[in-house]
Amino acid sequence: MSFLIRFARQWIAGETLDDAISRTRKANNSGIGGIINFLGEHVRNKDEAKKNIEENQRILEAIGDSKLNASLSIKLTQLGLEIEKHFCLSNVEQIVSSAASKNIFVWIDMENSPYTEETIYIYLEVFKKYKNVGVAIQSNLKISESDIKRIAAAGGIIRLVKGAYSEKTDIAYTSRKDITINYSKLMGYLFFKSPFFAIATHDDLLINEALIANEAHRKKIEFQMLLGVREELKKELVQKGLTVVDYIPYGKNWFPYSLRRIRERKRNILLVFRSIFDF
Ligand SMILES: Cc1cc2nc3c(=O)[nH]c(=O)nc-3n(C[C@H](O)[C@H](O)[C@H](O)COP(=O)(O)OP(=O)(O)OC[C@H]3O[C@@H](n4cnc5c(N)ncnc54)[C@H](O)[C@@H]3O)c2cc1C
Repeated sequence: MSFLIRFARQWIAGETLDDAISRTRKANNSGIGGIINFLGEHVRNKDEAKKNIEENQRILEAIGDSKLNASLSIKLTQLGLEIEKHFCLSNVEQIVSSAASKNIFVWIDMENSPYTEETIYIYLEVFKKYKNVGVAIQSNLKISESDIKRIAAAGGIIRLVKGAYSEKTDIAYTSRKDITINYSKLMGYLFFKSPFFAIATHDDLLINEALIANEAHRKKIEFQMLLGVREELKKELVQKGLTVVDYIPYGKNWFPYSLRRIRERKRNILLVFRSIFDF
């Protein structure tokens, strides 16, 4: 377990908001923006959801006070989505409205497929009132093409990701090749239809495609990557004058997030197995 904690630390700023703020400052000093996320998901009682709102408000205060180049990312099951959709909607509105008053952008992470539709519903409701909010869309889901079209039609702002959750073949592309092909297709759509969006991948093929497409379309795009992944590539993109942003999670609830990072890469799985069996 202690190996796992040490291994997971590469993707996580630490346990406290101060850790996240100092990691964001470090990123800013290298020309990279920050997206701060308080780790946690699947909250099932209202008091806990309220405590999570308070922590997100603390993040907004800290970003405002420190004048960092940073936004906030939230997960809806951390804010009561499994308790009641409208309870969650009002919690998200509270956070986004206070972020708007501080001129801070809020990203809504996308969780696994049981939450896709409700997440988009909440996003579009909040976006009607506040424009400082975007939502992640996953290229592994077959429904994402129509979701992107309706979000773009409403003027919404998208962070395009491959998808970190394992999904069934009837609703999802499951091979890396198909997920990448769909990513490329959805990204092409965004280059035509969306004035601002985020390309959240570490995949060279897709990043190169985006760089070429941007030569022709000149959109406002940002490259978002995870803390601890492809640090050299981030620097290269910054040197080319592109906008690069680091996703910086913190908190005690690091385990589910770290498992998703381990699953993403065969080498990470091997390293964990090796440490367990010590071979
Ligand atoms: C800013 C940001 C926000 C995200 N938000 C969401 C979200 O809201 N919902 C969601 O489902 N998913 C989210 N994701 C995760 C995403 O869906 C993928 O699971 C993750 O980015 C890995 O896919 P990839 O596009 O980098 O491509 P991959 O094909 O998985 O990776 C490409 C290359 O990147 C490197 N790499 C990728 N992952 C790792 C890793 N863990 N450790 C070391 N090297 C690695 C490797 O060199 C690999 O060859 C987010 C990702 C980013 C960057």
